[in-house]
Amino acid sequence: MTDHALERVRAAKAAGQPVVGILCEFTPRELILAAGGVPVCLCGGAHAMIAPAEVDLPANLCPLIKSTYGYHLTRSNPFLEMCDLVVAETTCDGKKKMYELMGETRPMHVLQLPSRSDEVSRTLWRHEVRRLHAALQERFARPISEADLRAAIITMETERAARRDLAGLMRGERTPLTGRQVLELRSLASGDPADLAEYQRINAAPPEPRHSGVRVLLTGVPVPHGAEKVVDLIEGHGGLIVAHEHCSGLKPLEIRIDAQAADPLTAIADAYLHLPCSVMTRNDGRLDLIRRLAGDFRAQCVVELVWQACLTYDVEAVRVKRLCADLGLPYLRIGTDYAPGDTARIAVRLEALFEQVQAA
Ligand code: SF4
Ligand code: SF4
Repeated sequence: MTDHALERVRAAKAAGQPVVGILCEFTPRELILAAGGVPVCLCGGAHAMIAPAEVDLPANLCPLIKSTYGYHLTRSNPFLEMCDLVVAETTCDGKKKMYELMGETRPMHVLQLPSRSDEVSRTLWRHEVRRLHAALQERFARPISEADLRAAIITMETERAARRDLAGLMRGERTPLTGRQVLELRSLASGDPADLAEYQRINAAPPEPRHSGVRVLLTGVPVPHGAEKVVDLIEGHGGLIVAHEHCSGLKPLEIRIDAQAADPLTAIADAYLHLPCSVMTRNDGRLDLIRRLAGDFRAQCVVELVWQACLTYDVEAVRVKRLCADLGLPYLRIGTDYAPGDTARIAVRLEALFEQVQAA
C-alpha cells in the first residue's frame, strides 16, 4: 500500500492537488480532504533515520520522533518532500519541541491540543479546528463549503468502517490474516477510492481462515511503517495479534462523526477530542477500549509496546497492567526502540508469556 500511496500522491501533486502531511491521529483528515488536499501520514518508522536525527535531537528521545525528524533533515521521505503544508499538534513534549525545529524550514500549522475533554478544553479545541479550517482555505485559496465538509466526513466514515470490518476479520478462532497483514492494510494517504475498493474487496471475500496462535491484544504506542519489530517478534514466536488497539490500528477507527450534524465542523472537533491517547488526562477511555476489544476479540493476553522515552504511555502502563490483572489477562510491557539489538531478549520474554497463557 505504501508504493500505491506514493504513486497516488505523486499523481495528485502533478494534478495540482495540495499534499498535507499529518503527524498524529488528532489531526482531522476530513478538513484536509474538504480543502481539496491529500492527507498523508509522515510518522517515521526507519531505524536508519535515527542517527541523522541525533545531530540535533537528544539520544534519549522517542524513536518515532527521531525517525520522523531524521527524514526531515535528510530530505529522504518522498511524502514529506511533496508536502505543501504539515499539520501537527501539541501532544507529547518531544513532538511539540521537534515541530519547532521542523517548522524553521517547512510550512507548518500547529494545533494546540488541550489535554482534557471538559467544557473549557472543548471550547479551545473547537477554536483550534476552526483555525485550521481558516488556514487551509487561506493557504490553498479555496473556500471550504459545508457540503465539502459533509462529503469529507462521509469519505472518512466509509474508510474507517471498511477498516473496522477488516480488523473484525480477526475475531474468529482461526483468522484469514495475520496481525502484521492487518497493520499493512492501511494506507499512508487517506481518502483514495482505490484503497477503499481494496478494503471492501477483502472484506467481501476474505482469504481462508488459517492463522492461529496465542491471541494477543497489542496496545501502547503507534507502530509506523518500518517499525514492526515487535509485531514480527510476537507473531514469530507463537502469538497472533488479533487486535491492534494502538493508533496504527483500531483506536482512531473508533472515531464516529455524523455527516448530517447541524454544525459539521463542531461535530468533527468534538469527535477527535475523545481520542483515547495517553497525552490526555485522565485517559479512562483507553482502558474502556482495551476492556471492550479484549472481550470482543477474545484476547488471551495483552502486550504493551512503549517506545523508549515515551513517558505518557510508560506511566499509563501501570493502569493498563492493573486492568489486565482485573480481567485475568497476562500482561507484558515491552520498552524498546527501533534498533534490532534487543530482539533476542524480547523473544525470550514473549515465549515466557505465551507459555504462561498455554499453561493456564
Ligand atoms: S498515540 Fe497519541 S500522540 Fe501518538 S499518534 Fe496517537 S493520538 Fe497522536
Ligand atoms: S510514542 Fe510517545 S513519545 Fe513518541 S511521539 Fe508518540 S506520544 Fe510522543
